[in-house]
Amino acid sequence: VLVVEDLRRSFTQGDATIEVLRGVDLSVNAGEIVALLGPSGSGKSTLLQAVGLLEGGFQGRISIAGERVEALDNAGRTRVRRDRLGFVYQFHHLLPDFSARENVLLAGLVAGHPEKEARARADQLLTDLGLGARLAHRPSQLSGGEQQRVAVARALANKPVLVLADEPTGNLDEATAARVLGEFLSLVRGQGSAALVATHNVALARAMDRVVTLHEGRLAVA
Ligand code: ATP
Ligand code: MG
Repeated sequence: VLVVEDLRRSFTQGDATIEVLRGVDLSVNAGEIVALLGPSGSGKSTLLQAVGLLEGGFQGRISIAGERVEALDNAGRTRVRRDRLGFVYQFHHLLPDFSARENVLLAGLVAGHPEKEARARADQLLTDLGLGARLAHRPSQLSGGEQQRVAVARALANKPVLVLADEPTGNLDEATAARVLGEFLSLVRGQGSAALVATHNVALARAMDRVVTLHEGRLAVA
């Protein structure tokens, strides 16, 4: 569902250029959950931003669900992000003035799901994540773990073929992180999505189907 070939990205600051990605090759199969490890600064976020079509400036080829996406224009990138991808970040980026239910619902509506279906799906996802009694709460009225669960539900609202997660539980305590990640992975599995999950947590990475490690700008199989 994802094929990345010879992905390269460098950053120039003043007269110094650093090559962060030096020819990354990666395939993720449909429904497969892959952990992306690597030291701080190794380029995990840079790789996820490229695959998520959030940043330009890289070279190489990226296919998502069989479509070559690296040369798409803005409208095409937006369409792929909206219809095929889900995103979870370390900090949830929920809309503060909307309830948990509305935050999730919006992602389904934006993806073009009929309102009735999008509503039912939002409530189901939140209920599956244990937030059935928190649907009308705004983010500020939820705990950190609850907020992150809402972000997980939002990422899955459009039934993405691929979920990209960057330290999805990085700001939670260890026990909560393990629990939220477990719930996240079981929902991803349940709906047959694939996921690419950047993390520093080796123990959590082992719970995934496969681990790849960024090292000196390339991926090594761990
Ligand atoms: P962490 O585990 O700390 O999140 P990471 O593996 O996600 O690290 P990246 O954020 O991808 O690492 O950064 C990789 C390298 O690229 C770092 O050295 C960083 O300083 C550099 N970098 C990232 N974005 C930019 C940018 N916009 N301009 C210049 N350098 C950048
Ligand atoms: Mg990062």
